[in-house]
Amino acid sequence: MALAYDGAIQRLIDAFGHLPGIGPKGAQRIAFYILSAPEDEARELAEAIEEVKAKIRFCDICGNVCESSPCPVCLDPRRDRSVICVVEEPKDVMSIERTREYRGLYHVLGGAINPMANVGPSDLKIAGLIKRLESTGADEVKEVILALDPNIEGEATASYLSQLLRPSGVKITRLASGLPVGSDLEYADEITLGRALAGRREA
Ligand SMILES: [Zn+2]
Repeated sequence: MALAYDGAIQRLIDAFGHLPGIGPKGAQRIAFYILSAPEDEARELAEAIEEVKAKIRFCDICGNVCESSPCPVCLDPRRDRSVICVVEEPKDVMSIERTREYRGLYHVLGGAINPMANVGPSDLKIAGLIKRLESTGADEVKEVILALDPNIEGEATASYLSQLLRPSGVKITRLASGLPVGSDLEYADEITLGRALAGRREA
């Protein structure tokens, strides 16, 4: 019995198998779906992947994904520039935007402190955050909300940041409890996350 398919189909299965959350069986199922899908559907997927790699970059100010830097949120004059919400990943920005409870700016760290995976503070976009807190005038930051994932890595990162930022004199807050512990912000529903944001407490 052959243990691998021949050529291109196995290459596609292997490629999907590297994606997060997709196991070998899932990878095989998606690869065969694409094989039987209409030509233009498959081409659209391939083009979307190429386009995202060619066009998408990270905002020089907040670290969120965007097509041109600074991103639309950083440039939006209607956003409250006195509050920065610190999150781990760009997808967390979307989760918080969906709550419609927040009108401030963001700072995307690009991960969380995780000694098991060799991720330390220097691997995160923390220097850029400190620099933003130093600005004065209309861009003066008065509050930093630590909206990190309710798990061990998120907790470690929040404790590290609150100690680091305390001398700056900026008010540091954290999301209220009520989020499912041990999970990811993206799994919290909009109402729960909105409440956690509205009920945030000083760290
Ligand atoms: Zn930005």
